[in-house]
Amino acid sequence: MPSLDFLHNLTGSFALQAAGNPTVAMIEAAYQHHRMHWRYMNCEVTPEHLGDAVRGARAMGWGGFNCSLPHKVAVIQHLDGLGESAAIMGAVNCAVRRDGRYIGENTDGKGFLKSLQAVVSPQGKRVVLLGAGGAARAVAVELALAGAHSIMVVNRDARRGADLVDLLNVQTPARGDLQVWRGTQGIPDGTDVLVNCTSVGLFPDVDARLDIDVKTLRPGMVVADVVPSPPNTNLIKDARAAGCTVLDGLGMLVNQGVISIKYWTGQDVDPAVMHAKLREIYGV
Ligand code: NDP
Repeated sequence: MPSLDFLHNLTGSFALQAAGNPTVAMIEAAYQHHRMHWRYMNCEVTPEHLGDAVRGARAMGWGGFNCSLPHKVAVIQHLDGLGESAAIMGAVNCAVRRDGRYIGENTDGKGFLKSLQAVVSPQGKRVVLLGAGGAARAVAVELALAGAHSIMVVNRDARRGADLVDLLNVQTPARGDLQVWRGTQGIPDGTDVLVNCTSVGLFPDVDARLDIDVKTLRPGMVVADVVPSPPNTNLIKDARAAGCTVLDGLGMLVNQGVISIKYWTGQDVDPAVMHAKLREIYGV
């Protein structure tokens, strides 16, 4: 039986995936490694019960929770405030209890930024971003707030792409441009960082390839893929073969977890422990 203190310190995940998902395993691995008196559990919450779930978390004194699709926007109405980047993006993946209030943060983009900063500073960089969905919005806003010079958004759906570009131009210091994705896309000369924020390559479609001209991937470019499963996507393989510096999606996943844990508990955890757990799960 868990003690009351144990319940008091629960963090939670409002997700639609089944229990046993990699994020749960990764965060629990950190708690166990550091002997932290916290637990991370996965609850299936349907959209019509989202408000009840947040009220339940409040009632039980949870330190916070993650929320995944489709709750990232809808959860905002149930929270008490938003962090800076979550307010710009209009999406929350991490709620944090501060002084008894639940504040919505977005750790996806911050996690990406942290893994990118291990290989290059985004300051002044020219970025090409493939995709304009939730992950792309999170990554683009954090890159812009971190000083990227410009972000060219490449997306099939022109309206979705234009929404993200407008958001960048109106709410951040970076310049946003739109390239509507029609046919094979070349990566422009002068690109410093290419980021795949589409779901192309995500399990089970592991053989899928982005419709880009791989001959335009050049040594000196940093090429990042946010797809975490499998980490070794065709983009990562092509970019490595072209001599680019590559970043797979595991770093973003680990770092968003590290940042979330810091928000909830105030404690810094060792990313290597979480990385090792993910590598064990994905067999890489
Ligand atoms: P969304 O559904 O919000 O967006 C999907 C994006 O992919 C859209 O821009 C869509 O374009 C584009 N897309 C889909 N298929 C294709 C295709 N065949 N060719 C070109 N573009 C395509 O998803 P999310 O943004 O939430 O997730 C995107 C990826 O990010 C997923 O793989 C997810 O696993 C990953 N992710 C990784 C995280 C991590 O920690 N590593 C965290 C969060 C997400 P269009 O608008 O034209 O349809």
